[in-house]
Amino acid sequence: MPRLAYVNGRYLPHAEARVPVEDRGYQFADGVYEVVAIVDGRFADFEGHMARLGRSLGALRIDWPMSRPALELVIRELIRRNGVKTGLLYLQISRGVAPREFKFPDPRVRPSLVLTTRTLGRFATPAQLEAGVGVITIPDIRWLRRDIKSVALLPQVLGKQQAVEAGCFEAWMVDGEGRVTEGCSSNAWIVTAAGTLVTRHADNLILNGVTRLSLLRLAERFGVATEVRPFTVAEAAAAREAFVSSATTFALPVTRIDGRPVGDGRPGALTLRLRAAYLDAVAGERS
Ligand code: PLP
Repeated sequence: MPRLAYVNGRYLPHAEARVPVEDRGYQFADGVYEVVAIVDGRFADFEGHMARLGRSLGALRIDWPMSRPALELVIRELIRRNGVKTGLLYLQISRGVAPREFKFPDPRVRPSLVLTTRTLGRFATPAQLEAGVGVITIPDIRWLRRDIKSVALLPQVLGKQQAVEAGCFEAWMVDGEGRVTEGCSSNAWIVTAAGTLVTRHADNLILNGVTRLSLLRLAERFGVATEVRPFTVAEAAAAREAFVSSATTFALPVTRIDGRPVGDGRPGALTLRLRAAYLDAVAGERS
């Protein structure tokens, strides 16, 4: 069965799927996206991702390309045709195809919708779960509307590459006051020496992760002392645990920050508990 992509009303072989050269997503990064994990045939946090998609579209004044029920139908059909049981859905909506001019195009130009899926054997390797991953810290050089899940990801592309070249999984971006904003494609968390879970509050300076919100709810249910505030790189260096969260990592232990071990250098107990609880919650979601 060839892998298919959905592009503006057509299911096409993935390798042949194309957008026109004047798609505004291609020329201006004038578009938004979502990534949703599919675990054993169930979406992780589907409603949360759709809600954030609506907020991103609204912030950029891009119309939904079709009704919510129709979109959900197309998504499910692509996943069915591609036979995805475990993997991910990528969804991108751009302002559409129009002659290249900065201002918005004629209102009759319809947004472009692209959907792809990917089958994955697993979301993390055994080594990542047993040993944790490393992060580096880098300056946050992004714009001031990081709450919009826009496809303009160049700072994150550069940051991730720097992380990989340093043998790390992720780069944590740091503001002018030495406070971690978030990872290039994940939210950043620590557990302090006193056992308090800390992650930055959501405003225009970070992407409010859908996974982040679910993990905060789980922590509350467990009665874990939680502070939603910025933390500094120095505070992270003194933390007992650290982790990243995203649609594809869930809660993934961070055991090295800038080459130095976090806590005892092993994945933290609270991190692993939150990861397990998140996956349990996904197993209970509708398929
Ligand atoms: N922060 C950034 C910059 C991201 O790109 C992502 C995900 O791609 C996240 C946080 C995590 O968000 P979510 O949990 O919704 O995947």
